[in-house]
Amino acid sequence: MTQTAQLAGKTAVITGSNSGIGLGIAWEMARAGADVVLNSFTDRDEDHALAEQIAAETGVTARYIKADMSKGGECRALIETAGRCDILINNAGIQYVAPMEEFPTEKWDAIIAINLSSAFHTTAAALPKMRAAGWGRVINVASAHGLTASPYKSAYISAKHGIVGMTKTVALETAREPITANAICPGYVLTPLVESQIPDTAKKYGMSEEEAKQKVILERQPSKEFATVEQLGGTAVFLASDAAAQITGTTISVDGGWTAL
Ligand code: NAD
Repeated sequence: MTQTAQLAGKTAVITGSNSGIGLGIAWEMARAGADVVLNSFTDRDEDHALAEQIAAETGVTARYIKADMSKGGECRALIETAGRCDILINNAGIQYVAPMEEFPTEKWDAIIAINLSSAFHTTAAALPKMRAAGWGRVINVASAHGLTASPYKSAYISAKHGIVGMTKTVALETAREPITANAICPGYVLTPLVESQIPDTAKKYGMSEEEAKQKVILERQPSKEFATVEQLGGTAVFLASDAAAQITGTTISVDGGWTAL
């Protein structure tokens, strides 16, 4: 049986998937045969066009559903509106960098809401559907910062450590069922978000863009290469596969060796 056949008939809901890693995961899920539900907080023609493009190129059913992951009610409504939710990928996330004593409370609250609490709401809404279907996968996109810390990212690191803990709890609560919960911990991934930081970083340190990538952005990534959204998508597809049925409550690092340091 091919992997494509393996995910056929499943529906994957991916939060925060109109760009970057979430969109990459949506593409790989669709290539593996799963129907996909894309999401973000906007409702633009281009958001719906992404779903149309995935459907046209892969032949699966793809939809875009607007829901703001900073609001618990909208997180739960996303899962209800999606209908089936066999594979839940909690990916939506934002970042803000400031020292503890200067960290704005509203940024702390937004990061905890979007990067952590949204996964509580979506998972709580999705588990009954997975139980009814007799199969389920919860895949949380955490970070190398779910396992290690860096200065000035208190809210992000707290949320990412929190989601690793929540992943373990969900795994234990579903351990006797055909449902798994795991977290993917990426290091630096070349998404539009990271790409947009390269010119400024180069300017700040008086370096070429290539030097800024290697010496500043990838400083902690021993491979000195970015992970790609396709690799993250492939990791998510693996966690949804039958081969991963006994992998639960753990983290998979896709970080070029960062957490081995
Ligand atoms: P990105 O900015 O490209 O993607 C973030 C996604 O979340 C976007 O689709 C955005 O629309 C969505 N989003 C933001 N606020 C939202 C809200 N209120 N409601 C719904 N959706 C919302 O960034 P990315 O790099 O692809 O990040 C995706 C995930 O991967 C995040 O959880 C991030 O923490 C994690 N991550 C990224 C990297 C990296 O190097 N890029 C590394 C480790 C972990």
